[in-house]
Amino acid sequence: MAIDFRKRNRGGERKVAETVAKTAVKQTSGTQTSDKQKSGNRKRSTKPVQETVQPEALEKAAPSNPNRRNSKNGAVNQNHNAGGERKGQNRNRNNNGQRNGQAPPPNPAPPTEGALEIIPIGGLGEIGKNMTAFRYGGEILIVDCGMAFPDEEMYGVDVVIPDFAFLEENAAAIKAVVVTHGHEDHIGATPFFLKRFKVPVYGTRLTLGLIESKLKERGVKGDLRQIKAGEKLKIGKFRIETIRATHSIADSVALAIETPAGTVFHSGDFKIDYTPIDGDPMDFQKLAEIGHRGIDLMLCDSTNALRKGFSESEKKLDPILDDIFRNTQSRILIATFASNVHRVQTIINTAVKHKRKIALSGRSMLKVMELAVELGYLTVPPGTLVDLDQTKDIPDKKLVVITTGSQGEPMSALSRMASREHRSVHIKFGDMVILSSSPIPGNEKTISHVVNSLLGQGAQVIYSDIADIHVSGHASEEEIKILISLLRPKNYFPVHGENKHLLKNAAIAEDLGIPKGNIIIAANGNVIELKNGAAKLTRRTVPAEPVFVDGLGVGDIGTTVLRDRKQLSEAGLIIVTAAIDPSSGFVVSGPEVSTRGFIYEKMSGSSEIVEEIRQTAQTTLENFERKGMKDVDAVKAAIRGDLKNLIYARTQRNPVIIPILVEA
Ligand SMILES: [Zn+2]
Ligand SMILES: [Zn+2]
Repeated sequence: MAIDFRKRNRGGERKVAETVAKTAVKQTSGTQTSDKQKSGNRKRSTKPVQETVQPEALEKAAPSNPNRRNSKNGAVNQNHNAGGERKGQNRNRNNNGQRNGQAPPPNPAPPTEGALEIIPIGGLGEIGKNMTAFRYGGEILIVDCGMAFPDEEMYGVDVVIPDFAFLEENAAAIKAVVVTHGHEDHIGATPFFLKRFKVPVYGTRLTLGLIESKLKERGVKGDLRQIKAGEKLKIGKFRIETIRATHSIADSVALAIETPAGTVFHSGDFKIDYTPIDGDPMDFQKLAEIGHRGIDLMLCDSTNALRKGFSESEKKLDPILDDIFRNTQSRILIATFASNVHRVQTIINTAVKHKRKIALSGRSMLKVMELAVELGYLTVPPGTLVDLDQTKDIPDKKLVVITTGSQGEPMSALSRMASREHRSVHIKFGDMVILSSSPIPGNEKTISHVVNSLLGQGAQVIYSDIADIHVSGHASEEEIKILISLLRPKNYFPVHGENKHLLKNAAIAEDLGIPKGNIIIAANGNVIELKNGAAKLTRRTVPAEPVFVDGLGVGDIGTTVLRDRKQLSEAGLIIVTAAIDPSSGFVVSGPEVSTRGFIYEKMSGSSEIVEEIRQTAQTTLENFERKGMKDVDAVKAAIRGDLKNLIYARTQRNPVIIPILVEA
């Protein structure tokens, strides 16, 4: 796991995020769900659920997957979870117009007077799109505003962002957003958020620098307010203390949020690195001090909870890279995450030591590096960097290319190199390619595809399977224990992780003596209350469906559209056109059949199928001619039905069928 982001592309634009991963979500009891849905949900939380496809879906948005809400909110612990309905949930913009027919839980209790509500809108049961709302005394403070990346079945979806419906309903109450660090799963949704909500965003220098360049890209203005780790803030009724943390990006902070209802600690993403590349370790003194004052509820990063021991220090990479550089006479290409400035610094230091020039490849790599140098987070000796287009004149043994694409992202620089589509880098026999990151779950296939293409062109490839060339940015079990021990929270709430991570993190806390009843396992959209040192999961929920962004559209595609795209991609499209004389009800021309992505029409036998389709459509039309063809919708439905049966019988495929009847 451990990796911090992956990128996808659409039309050349690349974005970065930490991870989107599989989620094992159990169904709540009492929900009727088809087996197909279950398996879909088991596989991945944000995955569009597959069900029997309605051809009509292409023309009319059919209510889709009514059980989805429950499957998502049906968290790990069924005893805890309410997963109920609430007014306002239907405002969700994913075409999920209809929710399930299940009755809402009997009268969820109204909010407790004087309690602090903690509302995870994203980041639970998934790795990605972190966002948590804290509401106290009619004011809302938001921590993080991240995105997630689509999985391979979300055709055409660029990014996935949290559901802002709850925030929209309470827009006037929102005081500010505080961002813990600059990874995409914590800042990626800020442009979408700031388009709708005019509230200040607080973050450290690098974090705000990264947010700013995202905003610029999308032409959004924001009120960005810089803070320093260690600084205290007062935002409305919230008192916030920021604590320097170590993670795979510089300038990360954890937060202590104090309200009259109690104090919450939010770890953000962290690992405990005693020897971070930038020299600033986690602020243990402050953590101990805050722990001493008393923490009522601790929210803790779960990403790496399944790993025993400690995550290695970033310094561990030094000798490994050094070894590789010393023993390599050819060109070296290293893929890593652009935002892992520490890693890039390690690579630069090693390159300088071995007297190699450095070229950067990939849009986000250039962008982040420029920012990091400008803000002083990255040191590059003068004369070390060369333009990628100028590398031809440099001997191979004097060159390192640092590139994006360590997750095999299809449009990334490394993928383009592997598929010989890169403008200026062509893989040569003997090139040494290093993928310095471990695969984010779900990316294994694309990575192995890239690795194979590189090997096929004669490159040597070092990746996680054969060498330890990545260290994680997230806390392993022992580090989580250290943080819990320093803070001694009364209540514990594992966040940022798939359910298996959350549960393991909960078990770690229980091992350290936090009573089981004080540990919260929740799902996105659940509402947790804190008052007088007691935290509880309420039966109230807020909308927390994934919202899909495709091009300029935000939330205008939902599961129905995705289902169509999936169906089109799997079985193609058949269009039947006929012209009808409305006065007589007779067919005056057609039917004609055209197909896309259905069958290769030149292949022997294929034209027979197309002809059979045509004849079937004709027979259907003739039956209607006798009735006068009054109800065009009925004619279309009949054509679809008849063709669907025929095509399935002949090909076992289920293409999208669109009958078009025009008046002649
Ligand atoms: Zn992170
Ligand atoms: Zn994260």
